[in-house]
This record gives sequence, C-alpha cells and structure tokens, in this order.
Amino acid sequence: MINIDNIINDYHACQVFYNLSMENLSERQQMLLEWLKAQNSVSVSEIEAHFSISPATAYRDVRALIQAGAAVKTFQGIKLAPSSQEGKCAFCNGAINERTVFIFQLQDGSQRKACCPHCGLMGISQLDVVSALSSDFLHGRMVNARQATFLVESSVNLCCAPSVLCFASQDEALNFQKGFGGQCCSLDEAAAWVRNIMSIHD
Ligand SMILES: [Zn+2]
Ligand SMILES: [Zn+2]
Repeated sequence: MINIDNIINDYHACQVFYNLSMENLSERQQMLLEWLKAQNSVSVSEIEAHFSISPATAYRDVRALIQAGAAVKTFQGIKLAPSSQEGKCAFCNGAINERTVFIFQLQDGSQRKACCPHCGLMGISQLDVVSALSSDFLHGRMVNARQATFLVESSVNLCCAPSVLCFASQDEALNFQKGFGGQCCSLDEAAAWVRNIMSIHD
C-alpha cells in the first residue's frame, strides 16, 4: 500500500514541488477555494456556471487546487481537503517550519505537508503516499525521504516529540549522533519506530 519508491529526486523537481503552494493560485482559483470552503464540495459544472468559464478552464482551476493540496477529487468535482489550512501540519495542526517540513505527494494527485519528520512518518503509515520529500535538518534542502537518514531519539527536539531529524548525508547523521545521541534509521525503520512508540496498544 505504501509506495514511495516512485520518488522525485532532483533539485529542479523539488523546486516545482515547492512552487505548487497556495500563493501560486490565480485570483479566480483563490475565489474558487473560498467558495469551496463555504460549500465543502462543488462539481465541475457548478464551477463553470458560477464563474462563467469553459469546462477546460474549470478543469484547470480544479487541478490547481488539488495540486496545492487544498482540494481532493470527487466523482463530479472536488471537495475541501481534510486539512487545507495553509501553513499548518496535516496531522497535528502545528505550524509548519521550513527547516523541518515534510511534504507528501498522494495517489489522488494532492499534496500534504507535515510540520516535521515525526508527523511525516506517521503520515507515511496512514496515507497512500506516492512520494515524499523531507527537509535536511542541517542545510534546509529538500531531499527524497527514501534516500534520507533519520535520527530518532536524539537530545535535539525542534518540533514534535519524540524527535526525528532528517539528514541527506548518512555521514552527517552519524556525526550528529555522536554528539547528540539517538539512533540512525532508514525511512522504513524510522516509520516503524514512530508507529510503535505512538501506538496506544502494547
Ligand atoms: Zn505535525
Ligand atoms: Zn512536528
């Protein structure tokens, strides 16, 4: 079910990913989002009528909202994404810090942001994730989460507890571990660790 092998890798792709944020919505797309917040769901034909636009334009606006993570597809149109609050983590509702942000691309084409790898790894276990990018803790670059090294349980806690830090370089993660403790893990190991520690069951 979890398929993040299909990952976006190069720097350019990261930039594209980043640019698909709400700020890049056109004025009409912003208006559509406001309308959607009031209605919760709208069909493509309602959008055409409401804005007096062609079906092709309505589809383009719909796609922009889905790509921005504000809406998800329905049979005839779109509905408001479960967490479309800009700048908030889709899991804990905490503020998004660019230093620790974790971004998912989902099967339905939408995008979600988590405040840090802790919430990101929880999300990987819960959602149909196609690919994921995580911010390198030391340098702030977005890295393919599949190729990153995660340091769990170190003494450095920037966001959610227990702390999970992301490193693009395994060497840097190991060096950091020497000073601040914890355990270096792959994406799958770190996801299993967070799942286990956050589970309410034994
Ligand atoms: Zn969070
Ligand atoms: Zn967090």
